Amino acid sequence: SGFGYANMEKQRQKLPVFKYRNPILYLVENHATTIIVGETGSGKTTQIPQYLKEAGWAEGGRVIACTQPRRLAVQSVASRVAEEMGVKLGEEVGYTIRFEDRTNPGVTAIKFLTDGVLLREMMDDPLLTNYSVIMVDEAHERSLSTDMLLGLLKKIQRRRHELRLVISSATIEAKSMSAFFDTRKTRQGEADEHCVPRRQPTILSVEGRGFNVQIQYLEEPVSDYLQAAVSTVLLIHEQEPMGDILVFLTGQDDIDAAVQLLNEDAQNRGRQPSGLIVLPLYSGLSRADQDLIFSPTPKGKRKVVISTNIAETSLTLEGVVYVVDSGFSKQRFYNPISDIENLIVAPISKASARQRAGRAGRVRPGKCYRLYTEEYFVKEMHAEGIPEMQRSNLVSCVIQLKSLGIDNILGFDWLASPAPEAMVRALEVLYSLGILDEDAKLTSPTGFQVAEIPLEPMISKMILSANLLGCSEEIITIAAVLSVQSIWMSARGSQKELDETKLCFAVAEGDHVTYLNVYKGFLHSGKSSQWCHKNFINYQAMKKVVEIREQLHKLLRRLGIVLKSCDGDTKVLRKAITAGFFAHACRLEAFSHNGMYKTLRSSQEVYIHPSSVLFRVNPKWLIYHSLVSTDRQYMRNVIAIDPSWLIEAAPHFYQLQKPNTATY
Ligand code: ADP
Ligand code: MG
Repeated sequence: SGFGYANMEKQRQKLPVFKYRNPILYLVENHATTIIVGETGSGKTTQIPQYLKEAGWAEGGRVIACTQPRRLAVQSVASRVAEEMGVKLGEEVGYTIRFEDRTNPGVTAIKFLTDGVLLREMMDDPLLTNYSVIMVDEAHERSLSTDMLLGLLKKIQRRRHELRLVISSATIEAKSMSAFFDTRKTRQGEADEHCVPRRQPTILSVEGRGFNVQIQYLEEPVSDYLQAAVSTVLLIHEQEPMGDILVFLTGQDDIDAAVQLLNEDAQNRGRQPSGLIVLPLYSGLSRADQDLIFSPTPKGKRKVVISTNIAETSLTLEGVVYVVDSGFSKQRFYNPISDIENLIVAPISKASARQRAGRAGRVRPGKCYRLYTEEYFVKEMHAEGIPEMQRSNLVSCVIQLKSLGIDNILGFDWLASPAPEAMVRALEVLYSLGILDEDAKLTSPTGFQVAEIPLEPMISKMILSANLLGCSEEIITIAAVLSVQSIWMSARGSQKELDETKLCFAVAEGDHVTYLNVYKGFLHSGKSSQWCHKNFINYQAMKKVVEIREQLHKLLRRLGIVLKSCDGDTKVLRKAITAGFFAHACRLEAFSHNGMYKTLRSSQEVYIHPSSVLFRVNPKWLIYHSLVSTDRQYMRNVIAIDPSWLIEAAPHFYQLQKPNTATY
């Protein structure tokens, strides 16, 4: 309604960034690169693209892009901006994330997208000619894709002088970013004042209006941050005045567990309704669940949002007065010696801890409960996090740069250089996968096709091999399942019940083939949510699987690949998986009674994850999809193989440490 719109306009004008509207537009007009530093919630993400549109940057069919490291943030911010502008999402304001494009070419003026998607767009349009302004948001996060994007955008700027970059972040090290984009030296003899726009980047700080946040530390360290978080929430609820609570945990598992514990507590004490509304926040949430997070808290109630890192700077929740900070987040770590990449629950940096605390001072003075000691904060926590580029497996990164025609990858203009050992490892694997040739160029057609498929390169290679082996119909289902978090529900009630249900689908070959049964059952049920509920299967995840599978099917058709079924021949299926994942082969230790495996690549000790259908089955040879590390390294999604397939798949890969098949 007109009233609602006017109201929204008022809200917009109250945001700290509004005072800087004209200076921002002036700087963007006159400088190739504008760096904007501003506290979370000041309005950078939702307002700046609108200001740019109002100033005419989207005229003549041009598009204003705004990138985010996270998919959920892209969707959430785009729908907010569409609402503020009073337009339908997917028209003037749209978004694109992997496997989901909600834009209308020719109509969409403001487009939100992940930095990964923008990288992919460069494959079709290397100079990104559709865009007049590209806003790289959340640059302080230093995600792998953001870093790659910044290096590539700097290159594009040399060719497109009219392109404007806006780099925005909450805590950026603005000076080094500014030095990186200072391209005056490269245009010798030209005085910068005479260039329009000026090549010298400019920095603008938007002052926040955060209230004071009182920090509380633990006296003694705790061993169980999950339990500590739950008790702290209950304590706040009993003792502190009204105001919402934001809890930072690490991922879906501990968040779901905390939600369950809090809901159980309310029931046990018989004080239902307790006045607590407990909501999880992590990627993969349904639209409806996302909307709950942002809906105002009803009077007399207290909202508790239990979130991953996403609420640290990407999303702002109004009404938060109390923050509970576990001190941990899930982070990617890669070890080039063992060639193992893990998602590890690891300590956050001081910078992150400060950001988290800041979320409590949004509407009035707040409190932050740190579930660690002050001594730990001062002495143990690092000042800043390490850029993801320096702690990641580089296989995808190398393929993307190669497909953009960048051959000298070590010589690329990095914001932070990756480790040379990690680069060598990536080249080795890509060569063995047949994606790069001896000259480290993309092979044709395999290398170019792998680059076209927006999945992990090993999955893409698995799909291409399945095409040759005649089992692509089944393998794209498997690829889709491996692309979602987990299709099993976390155990509600008893673990035993879940395990028994799983056995209805399980097959001796392993998890991948089991997923085919689940998918079949889901289709057979008419994609029923009741069926999922009954079988401990995550309905949201299955819907996603169907969607991704459809997208993959379309993509393969474009690559000229026609789906073919192997009609239940699991041997060819497993050969196709081996062709993609031979680097993840393991062998059961001959005298192991506790199910210990060693990786063929680097003799690392690994174990089958309890969630696998092969847990305690322990076939001699297997291949895993990914590792999770807790007390040990656990393999998730495993499949039994015959070791001879490894030699078939990659004759030279294990040459130095050839598996001794004779002993088995
Ligand atoms: P920044 O990018 O500087 O962190 P944002 O532009 O994301 O700030 O947020 C500005 C304001 O818009 C905040 O007050 C936030 O609460 C509000 N906002 C953003 N997204 C939504 C949403 N989906 N629903 C309701 N309010 C939102
Ligand atoms: Mg933002």
